[in-house]
Amino acid sequence: MNEHDTEKMEHLLLKDGFERTQDVSVADVVIVNTCCVREKAEQKFYSFMGRLRSMKNRRGTILGVTGCIAQMEKEHIKERLPFIDFSIGPSSIHRIKEAIEEGAKNKLFLDFSDNGCNPYLFIKPGIMNKKAKTYVTIMKGCNNFCSYCIVPYVRGREVSRESEDIIKEIEDLAMQGVKEVTLLGQNVNSYNKGRDDIAFPELLKRINEIHGIERIRFVTSHPRDLSFELIDCFGTLEKLCEHIHLPFQSGSDKVLKLMNRGYGIKEYVEKIMMLRNRCEDISITADCIVGFPGEEEEDFNKTMELIRHVRFDGIFSFVYSPRKYTFASTLSDEVPKALALERLVYLQGVQKSITLDKNRGMEGKEVDVLVEDVSKNSKEDFAGRTRTNKIVNFRGNQDMAGRFVRVGIIKGYANSLKGELISKEA
Ligand code: SAH
Ligand code: SF4
Repeated sequence: MNEHDTEKMEHLLLKDGFERTQDVSVADVVIVNTCCVREKAEQKFYSFMGRLRSMKNRRGTILGVTGCIAQMEKEHIKERLPFIDFSIGPSSIHRIKEAIEEGAKNKLFLDFSDNGCNPYLFIKPGIMNKKAKTYVTIMKGCNNFCSYCIVPYVRGREVSRESEDIIKEIEDLAMQGVKEVTLLGQNVNSYNKGRDDIAFPELLKRINEIHGIERIRFVTSHPRDLSFELIDCFGTLEKLCEHIHLPFQSGSDKVLKLMNRGYGIKEYVEKIMMLRNRCEDISITADCIVGFPGEEEEDFNKTMELIRHVRFDGIFSFVYSPRKYTFASTLSDEVPKALALERLVYLQGVQKSITLDKNRGMEGKEVDVLVEDVSKNSKEDFAGRTRTNKIVNFRGNQDMAGRFVRVGIIKGYANSLKGELISKEA
């Protein structure tokens, strides 16, 4: 979500004649787009701003803060960071140019309004650098109020975008050579809930018809709202990739209740089984929080039981951190930080071996890979993703970037697969 907001701002500024640099020390303007979902990101942000402050003193750089931390702090941001020139929340990113211009005149520019259904919220970033894959925002905000989560407070209530507008954008992207789209929303399954427009499975069906688009993904689904109709789309819509990100957060019904998640583990596991029945090889990833207030040893064991039972392809796991405005931050039954961290390390160790095992199980198989770019591991290797969203590194060359190739998997690691090119045409 944040990465995509960065792309949107980049697009708007490039259109207005700004140039992008990878080197902060030569930039005339530095925009720090922030996330406040977890405490760690916030701490990192403040220490980064400290470093930028000394750079500003030396070079007179124009400094701005955007994103969720800006929205969370609102006017207080100028007390915490008196040296910045502008700050705007996620609903005001269409004003980025104005913010820079005002900031450059030494007028502190602030805008934290929640612009509700403002059409600018759905700015189309188009494609840059001739990417073959891109994100498309289909809704913003969230109505769920999971008790630990700050998102509804900083990104506002749920607003869905008109289906026609989404389809038109994807058709345009396809004409420009985009082959893969990831539909973005905090809870895509409640897309258009209560509105007189098509629901999410129907949206997928229509995108599946768009000529030129070969892969469709989406994030994120809320287990409570994962409908049978959506489950049915897997294995039926040929462009819908065999991967779902379905955060469970905890394996204990008691904790899930405290988290206000609206489902129990029985329902979650049933939905996983349905997904696997529909599409045997579907890859399933999730998010999970450990150390939520009130999480006892027994609750954590249930989380581990779920992890061993489902055998996820990957899990993003976090230690709970209390967030401003949230109900959970008022709970007193805290888990000591050291214990929460111990649980996290254990969980990650178990999950790593499951992921490794699953990836090793891919050895000897052939997959279609959409090639992205030079691999992070080696300059001679190229990296791309399978339909199941696994990273594959293989010997390739630049003209494969943005294209599909057929690759044989020769080795599975914990974070990626190593492959061998079989054919330049997938
Ligand atoms: N809307 C998405 C993701 C929201 S934030 C969803 O519901 O799945 C991404 C992840 O951050 C969450 O899934 C959760 O695991 C984690 N997270 C959110 N708030 C947190 C907090 N206060 N402490 C620790 N992890 C948190
Ligand atoms: Fe946060 Fe829950 Fe909404 Fe996800 S669904 S953004 S975790 S409140």
